[in-house]
Amino acid sequence: MRTPTAVGFLDADCFYVSAERVRDSFLMKKPVGVLGNQGACVIARSYEMKGAGVDVAMPVWEARAICPEGIYVKRDFRWYEVLSRAMLGVVRDISARVEYYSIDEFFFAVGPMPGLSFQETAEAIRAKILAEVGVSVTVGIARTRTLAKLLAKSAKPEGARAMLGRDGETALLADRPVTAITGIAGRRAKRLLPWNILTCLDLARADRRLVRDLLTATGEALWWELNGEAVQPIRPERVAHKTLSRGGSFGESTLDPIILYAWLVRNLERLIEELEYHGVRAGRLTVWVGYKDGQSGVGQANLAVPADRFDLLLDVARPCLRAAWVPRVPAARMQVIAEHLVPRGRAQIGLFDDPESAARAEAVARLKREINLRHGRFALRSAATLPLAAIYKDNANGYDICDVRGKGCF
Ligand SMILES: [Mg+2]
Repeated sequence: MRTPTAVGFLDADCFYVSAERVRDSFLMKKPVGVLGNQGACVIARSYEMKGAGVDVAMPVWEARAICPEGIYVKRDFRWYEVLSRAMLGVVRDISARVEYYSIDEFFFAVGPMPGLSFQETAEAIRAKILAEVGVSVTVGIARTRTLAKLLAKSAKPEGARAMLGRDGETALLADRPVTAITGIAGRRAKRLLPWNILTCLDLARADRRLVRDLLTATGEALWWELNGEAVQPIRPERVAHKTLSRGGSFGESTLDPIILYAWLVRNLERLIEELEYHGVRAGRLTVWVGYKDGQSGVGQANLAVPADRFDLLLDVARPCLRAAWVPRVPAARMQVIAEHLVPRGRAQIGLFDDPESAARAEAVARLKREINLRHGRFALRSAATLPLAAIYKDNANGYDICDVRGKGCF
């Protein structure tokens, strides 16, 4: 007899806080907030701090005013990745098909463990992660990805639930608004409103063709999933990137074009690491700058020949920044985006690229890579980044969430 399989979803409970507690038990049962970019905002909080009224993205000074007894620690994505990979290892011991969906969320194919029911299997996985990694997680097992995720979200924290029958599913879906489904945010939910589709159950029971008309094929796929038909596969391999980007908030906004340029160079150096890692060259570059007053500026340019070399990309990025720059308005964030990615081997040599200077630039790039590999990331970097000395001095900026590779989402 074939072992019945279902879809498992595992999600760590307030992961960054749990991760901090793994290495410092003093933080157990206390209100803990993890701070993001330059320590300005709360990006994760323990259930104790949530209970005190602290929200995600709240500035730390507001959080401290309403939760003065809270303990605030700076994020450390290097450490979170270590635990993330450890959790991934445990799940891979259990299942041959695991999707690394985000740093603390995995989908996996799962059958009941020997001698156990599906419900006991969910509990066993939760216990195994806690015992081997020290992180508290919630596990949901259902017939489809969408159902497994909804189930896990309804069982948080420290939950373990398996639900493979229609009756249980109906009760679960009736209880949740359509916005609880990943992929149905404000705009899509608004389209459903005139048809009185408010809960997940309303959506599951709606006419399939109507759902497709309102929400396209994406919505139709969700409709099948809600009705127990697994149409969204588990993807153990990450699909190839269409774009790569690096950037983020400056922490402190700036009017100074020299500092803006320093951020451009920093983001470009990080982007080149990604291009090199994935073995691709960029055919188009976009520089996006967000300003404190809400406006934004964009500069975009195609490269005559796809490149991953600092000198060539900087030549293109500079006029892009000029186009994106709004003088006399403080700039707050930036993204540098590489598109039209071409595998390295396939990229042609530039017809007008002088071979001698190309060889020199390649040698410089190689040297930079080797020194940084041996002495630490950013040990050798462009002098244009010198105005950001404080950013480089702070270890918390050395590694970002987007540096965690192989995830399916974000
Ligand atoms: Mg989580």
